[in-house]
Amino acid sequence: MSRRALITGITGQDGAYLARLLLERGYEVHGMVRRSSSDRCERIAEIRDRLHLHPGDLIDQSALTRILAKCQPQEVYNLAAQTYVGASFSQPTMTAEFTALGVTRMLEAVRQVDPSIRFLQASSSEVFGGTQEDPQNEKTPFWPRSPYAVAKVYAYWITVNYRESYGLFASNAIMFNHESPWRGSEFVTRRISQGVAKIKLGLADCLELGNLDAQRDWGFAGDFVDAMWRILQADTPDDFVIATGVRHSVRAFAERAFARVGLDWEKYVRVDPARLRPVDVPSLRGDASKAQRVLGWRPTVTFEPLVDMMVDADLAALSREHSLSHREQSP
Ligand code: NAP
Repeated sequence: MSRRALITGITGQDGAYLARLLLERGYEVHGMVRRSSSDRCERIAEIRDRLHLHPGDLIDQSALTRILAKCQPQEVYNLAAQTYVGASFSQPTMTAEFTALGVTRMLEAVRQVDPSIRFLQASSSEVFGGTQEDPQNEKTPFWPRSPYAVAKVYAYWITVNYRESYGLFASNAIMFNHESPWRGSEFVTRRISQGVAKIKLGLADCLELGNLDAQRDWGFAGDFVDAMWRILQADTPDDFVIATGVRHSVRAFAERAFARVGLDWEKYVRVDPARLRPVDVPSLRGDASKAQRVLGWRPTVTFEPLVDMMVDADLAALSREHSLSHREQSP
């Protein structure tokens, strides 16, 4: 019989990659989808008829319990969250509700319905925020610098706590930034790839960004969901840093993205002070040697091919859209 997995946040970037990976590996894949007035299933449209989708929200304890009881998964991947650092400054309590307390609700549902379920929590490198240690590993002390990061610290510890208190197989993937053509359009990498595509096609003449000096360890989402799966196949539950170990600045990302389409980034990029955060995280770089040693995980996509992949995808999508609307307008 095939194994069953439940993914919360299946409509997001990672959910879409993980669903495909689990289907390829023979899983029966269930996903929790929250109600919305518009269809948000774009990223899973192609595989939708192979998925079992259940309506539910991280704020609704009874829905989580009902979904688990109904689909009886052996593995739960808890990816759902308010994920955008910028939005967490303007909506801090909502961020805490979903990104922090939502994890407790999910763990409670697991504990009550079937404590043998293996649970993966999508933790974040933002928990390291202001740290002076470089690179960061599983022993680096946390210093969260946004309401999002504070919520992720809570989520990390409640996962550890349910493991220690109730013996759940509950693990954290402390993931550094990971991107793809399915990255949400508010995130800086996707803003850049979409902005470059628009400028190249003559649909915009500049791109406004925030802190160009911020440095991040950017990997490919497809690699990171493989790490999540490996964490739940391990002999024992544990916490793992997942990262490429290589750091680049936002400026370097923009430079590469513009170069991909033969443009000079300096002619188009403007710094918009409104995009600067109340406090920022200057630089993060992860040390994933534990994941390499214990799980045999290694990233396969490096920085330059990742940037190129995102720019190419946005250019192709926008060209299609543009020529379609052009054709519709011509007599
Ligand atoms: P994403 O694209 O923003 O997806 C977030 C998902 O959560 C969406 O499916 C969203 O549903 C769902 N969601 C939000 N609030 C919910 C609620 N109250 N109830 C149920 N579902 C809800 O995020 P991602 O990039 O795939 O990230 C996946 C996870 O990894 C997140 O927990 C994120 O914090 C964590 N993480 C990501 C990164 C990264 O670089 N991508 C790094 C570290 C950690 P809708 O489609 O309805 O909005």
